[in-house]
Amino acid sequence: MTARVLDGRAVAQQIYREVADALEQRMAEGGSRPKLATILVGDDPASAQYVRLKQRNAEAVGIESEDHRLPAHTTTDELLALVRDLNADESISGILIQQPTPKQIDMQQIVIELDPAKDVDGFHPINAGKLALGIPGGIEPATPSGIVELLRRSGIVIEGANAVVVGRSNLVGKPTALLLLKRNATVTLCHTRTKDLAGHTRSADILVAAAGRAGLIGKDMVKPGAVVVDVGTNRVGGRQVGDLGGGVEEVAGWLTPNPGGVGPMTRAMLIKNTYEAEVRRRP
Ligand code: NAP
Repeated sequence: MTARVLDGRAVAQQIYREVADALEQRMAEGGSRPKLATILVGDDPASAQYVRLKQRNAEAVGIESEDHRLPAHTTTDELLALVRDLNADESISGILIQQPTPKQIDMQQIVIELDPAKDVDGFHPINAGKLALGIPGGIEPATPSGIVELLRRSGIVIEGANAVVVGRSNLVGKPTALLLLKRNATVTLCHTRTKDLAGHTRSADILVAAAGRAGLIGKDMVKPGAVVVDVGTNRVGGRQVGDLGGGVEEVAGWLTPNPGGVGPMTRAMLIKNTYEAEVRRRP
């Protein structure tokens, strides 16, 4: 069997079109234009490239962007001051802080300070709490909601599926498990202390690999016909690879390309979150 492709690039384009159409309609009715503020601390070229892409994606649908660059030696207090300014700035709909930030920055303190209504990454405890408790109206984090949206729009049935998520970070694994649970999957969350990882992954109808370990999921760890989402981004020999070993495409029924699967969906959901944040702020 050769797995069918879960085409993140194509689905992301659908989402951009929907946001662009909705925004055009909003502007025609005299509504306000959303604006995304991006913050990049330091000069890591990969992070700078991600920020550029996000700004370009925003502008392509009609969302303005505002670029903030801070030097690598920025302190937590300095970043907090910028976040407070952007919280108070009426023209800003969403604030994105590109991660990872330099080690001296206490991101927990920064995220708590963000206005939850402008937290388009969905990391603030109020947004995370709403997701965990099933309270509507919060902002859902972009990568996990991108994964679920990709499955949903590709016609994958989540309800009743055995879903196994490998990785339990607050950024990816945990919220992905919560979103799959919200859609009535039966969810198992695996991590480095999981006994018999392969035993769990082989039971998965939907397998989400979000460990950040190249080659962790071998083809013998995948149930024939399973839907496999490869979130990991690892650099091997100057190339981006995911968490899957060779040959998974011969066993899986559906598979995300990497790159070209979860990455484009993450950026599309960020743009959708920014649009929706503005609509909620000024209906
Ligand atoms: P993270 O904070 O490092 O978390 C990794 C998780 O994987 C941890 O929970 C860890 O378990 C688990 N893990 C690591 N090695 C494992 C192993 N051998 N067996 C079982 N579990 C293992 O990383 P993250 O922020 O969640 O990101 C995960 C990956 O997704 C990274 O490669 C990241 O670059 C990528 N990512 C991609 C996108 C995208 O848009 N494509 C977006 C976000 C992240 P413990 O908790 O026990 O340590």
